[in-house]
Amino acid sequence: MASKKSEIDELVEQTGAMALNPNNTTSSQTADYYRNQKETDRINFARLEKGLLLFIYVYETSKSTLATEMFFWDHRICVNVITTGKCLKSSDKCRSEHQSSYRQTNLCPYWYINNRCTFGSNCQNSHRLEEVPNEHRYIRTETEVDVFKLLRFIRNFAGHYIDSIIADQQQLHKDILVVMLHLVHALSRKNARSIEHLHLFLEKTTVNQMISEENLLSELEKPFSVPEVFFDLRLNYNATWYRPTGNKRDVNFNQLSPGFVTYFNGIFLDYYQGRLKSRGAKPAWC
Ligand SMILES: [Zn+2]
Ligand SMILES: [Zn+2]
Repeated sequence: MASKKSEIDELVEQTGAMALNPNNTTSSQTADYYRNQKETDRINFARLEKGLLLFIYVYETSKSTLATEMFFWDHRICVNVITTGKCLKSSDKCRSEHQSSYRQTNLCPYWYINNRCTFGSNCQNSHRLEEVPNEHRYIRTETEVDVFKLLRFIRNFAGHYIDSIIADQQQLHKDILVVMLHLVHALSRKNARSIEHLHLFLEKTTVNQMISEENLLSELEKPFSVPEVFFDLRLNYNATWYRPTGNKRDVNFNQLSPGFVTYFNGIFLDYYQGRLKSRGAKPAWC
């Protein structure tokens, strides 16, 4: 009972903080990023391509290092292993991962497996993962999980995209481009008060279509409302997977830990040295 009460207190506190914290009320919508755009300035797939190639590299380079950490956040570790320390099925028969030292005896299996539980807030078990496993080196917060999921989404989008079937293509491309801007801004090396790193890693013409440099930099400091569907691991790219009016999740890209940022700084640097430098591109950080 005691733990339930403190959970409610926690929620009330969070809601209170939300109303008071101006950062949460000013999270940006995609429209804020663009000047009055002419029809001819439409963002077609080619305008995204430079960024997509970058994100294929970043995701493919980081995924083996971060995969085991993501098993935990993606709820892919066997619930029996977490709650009791053992599973009756052998690891080749069970659909979940057995390699984990993470234990949480009070974890609700319904919530963990299905993302919902009919008991709701009356459930006697816990509806959250309560600790980060000790062996996790890089992904230690929900914000870092969100950022890695977005890297994964953009990589998968690059692979699965079928040009003809999405109705709201313009809006989708804008959302993807703005997410790429935030990711490059948060994860690459850069000079203070400059957008040279955005020009280096993304399509320059497209970046230049956006609001003025000064406004863009201050916009990138705010949380961004990302379409909820971008976080979905099991996304199937049917004709209606994306809707501009769908649910959004605020991500504050400025809340990443130094270890996480340094790790990705290195990958962006390797990409620059391996792919961009030989074509005459100057580094954006010296
Ligand atoms: Zn199992
Ligand atoms: Zn439950």
